[in-house]
Amino acid sequence: MLNETKSLIYLDNAASTPIHKEVLKEMLQNIELDYGNPSSIHELGRKSKTLIQIARKRISKLINSDIDEIIFTSGGTESDNLAVLGMARKIRNINPRMNHIITSSIEHDAILECCKDLENDNFEVTYLPVTNDGYIRPKDMISSIKPSTGLITIMFANNEVGTIQPIEELVKIAKNKNRTLIFHTDAVQALGKIDIDVKRLNIDLMSLSSHKINGPKGIGALYVKKGIRPNSIIHGGGQEYSIRSGTENVIGIIGFGKACEIISKSFVYNNKKILEMKEYLIKKILDEIPNCRLNGGVNVDKVLTNIANFTFYGVNGEDLIIKLDDYGVAVSTGSACSVNKQKQSHVLKAMGFTHEEITGSLRLTVGVQNNMDEIENTIEILKKVILELREISPYNTKYH
Ligand code: PLP
Repeated sequence: MLNETKSLIYLDNAASTPIHKEVLKEMLQNIELDYGNPSSIHELGRKSKTLIQIARKRISKLINSDIDEIIFTSGGTESDNLAVLGMARKIRNINPRMNHIITSSIEHDAILECCKDLENDNFEVTYLPVTNDGYIRPKDMISSIKPSTGLITIMFANNEVGTIQPIEELVKIAKNKNRTLIFHTDAVQALGKIDIDVKRLNIDLMSLSSHKINGPKGIGALYVKKGIRPNSIIHGGGQEYSIRSGTENVIGIIGFGKACEIISKSFVYNNKKILEMKEYLIKKILDEIPNCRLNGGVNVDKVLTNIANFTFYGVNGEDLIIKLDDYGVAVSTGSACSVNKQKQSHVLKAMGFTHEEITGSLRLTVGVQNNMDEIENTIEILKKVILELREISPYNTKYH
């Protein structure tokens, strides 16, 4: 249980975000009265269906898709599974020779685990390397495309270091080489931070999640371009255009739709505010804490506004998290979704980091609800905690 009296500075907004009060209001308004099953023909059922359609419209407006190109899922993980498993298998069903997939080595586990599953099912997967600052080289992708390549899946923005991949360029050059290629992008971290226009990008499939943009957890969507149809991975009553069966999470969908509507209007303000706080945080940390470095790119246009990943030499990131938590600051080392696996960051590893550099890494992610006082306090607490940890660190003669 969270200690209600302890004040909390929440800087783990890439893991999840607090629900927006307008989102909550709209969900609560409907939770008690609109309990009809959207597949039922009666009025209550029809009302639920209408609410789903309103949400679908709001989401499609944010990414410039058609309304019926949005398929609701249980979140980013399921959207990634549906896109990768469903599409790879569909392509191979049509042409058994098309069994090659290209992805990157810094994808979220929701993609990488699907790729492993496909390898066990006789697919071939190419994992593209990244530069030391976390970017895919377009020439590596191009040279990996073979006649058997059916699917490319590359994330829009990375959840650990925030690097933004040049998706528009990657789609263009991939389709120039083979126009039948299907391109999926995991835009879970990008939504609300990058102005996404699926028509301009010419993307085929795109994963989205609600809880990264101040919506509820357990709800997401897959954008599926008209004319494309992945195999279902959940079978049943044929909801969601027969692509994703199961009675819809109506309240979650309402919340996700409202969160998208809000972010459409506050996009510029939010990102400006978040970026100002993040830039200040980065500058102060680099200026005032010795032996640390910023991980990932330094070009502001190529990194998400909210993510800052550091290595503090001579400390253990996990110890840092625990100590910071004692002082009321909530942060992570990397992907909260992978934390149960207790493994070292595959993202930093792919970026060529040493064991010590990965161990000392910490991810601070800013949200629109944060303020400069919280950032100032975090810096002071961080300075103190790092000094304490370095005192007892086995590396302390090097970094103290
Ligand atoms: N993809 C990325 C890039 C993510 O950051 C996350 C979650 O952190 C996911 C997928 C999984 O999304 P969800 O938590 O909605 O299942």
